[in-house]
Amino acid sequence: MSDYNASAEQTMCYCNKMGKMRTSWTDSNPGRRFIGCEKWKLTKEDSGCGFFVWYDRLMCARSKMIIPGLLRTLRRTEVEAKRAKQMEKMYKALLVGSWVLFVGVEIWYLK
Ligand SMILES: [Zn+2]
Repeated sequence: MSDYNASAEQTMCYCNKMGKMRTSWTDSNPGRRFIGCEKWKLTKEDSGCGFFVWYDRLMCARSKMIIPGLLRTLRRTEVEAKRAKQMEKMYKALLVGSWVLFVGVEIWYLK
């Protein structure tokens, strides 16, 4: 038996709806696409019929090893970039504040 079903794109789930293609981002199947029920994990109360079939073939061991590391590096870089952007905003506000203070003191001093 095959571990994937490339024709699953047109497969109906047990709810009698077209299966929806999604991408797995787990460490064991990073980036591997699958077809699941339209309501797949939508809500706790109604997560669909549980229909699930892999669309892509099983990944090689090297991909499974490398891709999660790259994803972690990407997420870390995104967090650092967001933090740097916040610091930039803070420094801009401090710069503007210091100039307002400087001009205010000058005006008060010249009176
Ligand atoms: Zn379903």
